[in-house]
Amino acid sequence: MKILVAKDAGYCFGVRDAVNLAYSTADKYGEVYMLGHIVHNENVVEDLERTGAKVVDDLDEVPKDKPLLFRAHGTAPDVWESALSKGIKTVDATCPLVIEIHEEVRKLEEEGRKIIIIGDHGHDEVIGIASQVSDPIIIATPEEAELLRKMKYAGVVSQSTQMIENVQSIINILMKKVYDLHFVNTICFPTKRNHEQIKTLAEQSDIMIVIGSYTSANSKRLTQLALERNPRSYQVTNANDMDSDWIIGAKVVGISAGASTPDNIIQDVISRVKELGHVKEEEVFYE
Ligand code: SF4
Repeated sequence: MKILVAKDAGYCFGVRDAVNLAYSTADKYGEVYMLGHIVHNENVVEDLERTGAKVVDDLDEVPKDKPLLFRAHGTAPDVWESALSKGIKTVDATCPLVIEIHEEVRKLEEEGRKIIIIGDHGHDEVIGIASQVSDPIIIATPEEAELLRKMKYAGVVSQSTQMIENVQSIINILMKKVYDLHFVNTICFPTKRNHEQIKTLAEQSDIMIVIGSYTSANSKRLTQLALERNPRSYQVTNANDMDSDWIIGAKVVGISAGASTPDNIIQDVISRVKELGHVKEEEVFYE
C-alpha cells in the first residue's frame, strides 16, 4: 500500500503564526486572552488553555495586566477601539492576507460600489471584513445570489477560504444582476493550493482521509471536494476516528488536513494508516 500526503496539508502560515504567537505571549505574560477560539480545532484549543491562553466572550473579562490577542481572521475596528479605550494591551495576530481583504473591500467602497461579500454567515472572518464597510451584503450560496435585486455598481470580495467553484457560480449570477461589477478574488493562496492538492489526491487515491474538526468550515470544504471526486472519502478529527475497514482492498490512501489541523495530529493519522496497512516508510509520499 502507498500513502500520498498532500504537501501543504494542515496549518496555513496565518494560523501557524497566530498559534505560535499565542503560545509565546502566554509564556511571556503567564496568560493571554482571546475573544473566541484561535483555530477551529478542539485539540489545539485544549492545549493552549493548559498553557494559559484563555477564551473570553467580553473585553471586561480580560484582566488589566494581561494581553488580549487578536486572532488570524481579523477583528472589527470597534473592538480594537474598545480594547484600546479600556487600556488593554493588545497583540495582533491578524493574517496579512486578511488585512489585504480589508484593504480591498475599503477601496471598492471608496469607488462608490455596493459591497458584496461571498462567505459564510456569522463566520468571524466574514464579520471582520463586513465591519470595514457600511451595510455590505453577505452571500453564501448561488440561491442567495438569485434573490438579489438588480444594481448599478457593486464590488465583490470573498472570504479567504471559499471554494472557487462556489465563488464562480455566485459571480455568474451577479453578472446578470449588476451593471458594473468589480470582483477581487480574495481566496488566499494557501487555500487555493490546499483545494487543488486535495482534488488531485482524491482522484489518485482509492480512499481519501481528511483530518480536521467538524467545527472547521475549512476542513468540511476539503471533505466536500474529496467526496465529489472519491466516494470513499472520510473526515476524521484524529487517529482514534480511523476505522480499519476503510482501507480494506485499498492500494493508495490519500491524506490531507484542514488549515486548523496541527502537525502532530496529521502525523498520528499517518502512523495509524501505516500501522493498519503495514506501510513502509519509503511508501509514504508528500505531493
Ligand atoms: S486561511 Fe489564508 S487568510 Fe486565513 S489565516 Fe490562513 S493564510 Fe491567512
